[in-house]
Amino acid sequence: MTVTRQPVLIAGGGIGGLAAALGLAQKGFRSILLEKASALGEIGAGIQLGPNAFHAFDYLGVGAAARGMAVYIDQLRLMDALTAEEITHVDLGEPFRVRFGNPYAVVHRGDLHGVLLKACRDSDLIELRVSSEVVRYDQDGSTVTAHLADGAWVTGSLLIGADGLWSNVRKQVASDGPPRVSGHTTYRSVIPTDEMPEDLRWNAATLWAGPKCHIVHYPLSGWKVFNLVVTYHNDAPEPVAGMPVSEEEVMRGFGHVHERAKAIIRHGKNWKLWVLCDRDPTERWLDGRVALLGDAAHPMLQYFAQGACQAMEDAVCLSHMLSHHDDQATALEHYRVQRFPRTARVQLTSRAIGEHIYHPAGEHARLRNAIMSAKTSEDWYRDLAWLYGGTGLGS
Ligand SMILES: Cc1cc2nc3c(=O)[nH]c(=O)nc-3n(C[C@H](O)[C@H](O)[C@H](O)COP(=O)(O)OP(=O)(O)OC[C@H]3O[C@@H](n4cnc5c(N)ncnc54)[C@H](O)[C@@H]3O)c2cc1C
Repeated sequence: MTVTRQPVLIAGGGIGGLAAALGLAQKGFRSILLEKASALGEIGAGIQLGPNAFHAFDYLGVGAAARGMAVYIDQLRLMDALTAEEITHVDLGEPFRVRFGNPYAVVHRGDLHGVLLKACRDSDLIELRVSSEVVRYDQDGSTVTAHLADGAWVTGSLLIGADGLWSNVRKQVASDGPPRVSGHTTYRSVIPTDEMPEDLRWNAATLWAGPKCHIVHYPLSGWKVFNLVVTYHNDAPEPVAGMPVSEEEVMRGFGHVHERAKAIIRHGKNWKLWVLCDRDPTERWLDGRVALLGDAAHPMLQYFAQGACQAMEDAVCLSHMLSHHDDQATALEHYRVQRFPRTARVQLTSRAIGEHIYHPAGEHARLRNAIMSAKTSEDWYRDLAWLYGGTGLGS
């Protein structure tokens, strides 16, 4: 392959697609981003960002804006949902920041997406097109053409499939069928801070772990609201995204937890439901001039809070490789080789965390408590160094 002056095509305007466009622009590449929806935006409320996300923000040129909208929490706190006692916490203060060169923070998804979108709109090298669903592609030796749902097509030098969990681009690249339905159902709500029980207004991302269920909460948007995410393992058979549900349905999975944990759920309102899906890792990310990125490449359960962080790392790595290799096929191959092992590890660890930390019961839970409560901050930092010390370009 030879380098062409054609723009890079990006399918999908989520966090991964916007980050890819920005990364490419940082290296002087033009791109056309094709988004299926009629407007660019994000649903859902909070998102946690490890220090690796801040490495990516700096690389993408949005470090200052991203830092300005974040809430900097003091701890990751693990509670036993049956006893309401703390099992352990990870201190996110100065020693953590020094160790990983960046903070841990929580942000509103809309704010994060907005920062990336503004930077894309400010760039002369990025063209954003909405109502542009990529349904398939074809390619020759030097270009790739994305075919859209309305019959139009767009030609570029490469196509990056950043079109999420249900990616059409992946269908063609990997042909590996639909995602795996995990059977875990997540319910999300946001409540004003003054409606959160006063004794739980912690500056922490708090996880209450119980048998087959868990609750997560943290402050957002300059402490105006609390994000509530509660999940139970109910063997839900079908994928569902964003469906409104009643409080009674949410409570159904939490009859067995401590009254203090139940009280958190009772404060939620306007609950919406997601049935969680992921995939087994696969190395099939590439097809000639086409590459996958973000959830399209490596969809994962949210238990490591890393899906968006990994999508941004992908964007960093992709643009780095394209700027370091004249031959674009070689660059895509380097991108895949660099990114696959790390993202696969996060995918599989996210599942393991769900099983061994978030949802165990009985002896299994007592073992978790014994192991985790014995860890010091230094132990935690060492355990997390492979993840939070990485940048997408290698650790
Ligand atoms: C409950 C929950 C909590 C989470 N918490 C965290 C967290 O704390 N931290 C974290 O880092 N991650 C978290 N994640 C994961 C994170 O949300 C995702 O990994 C991340 O948003 C993926 O971004 P993406 O751009 O790859 O895909 P998406 O966000 O799915 O974006 C895909 C975009 O492509 C568009 N699109 C789809 N198909 C097409 C097409 N054919 N053509 C054109 N456009 C198309 C869609 O409309 C969408 O805009 C969480 C996920 C869940 C479900």
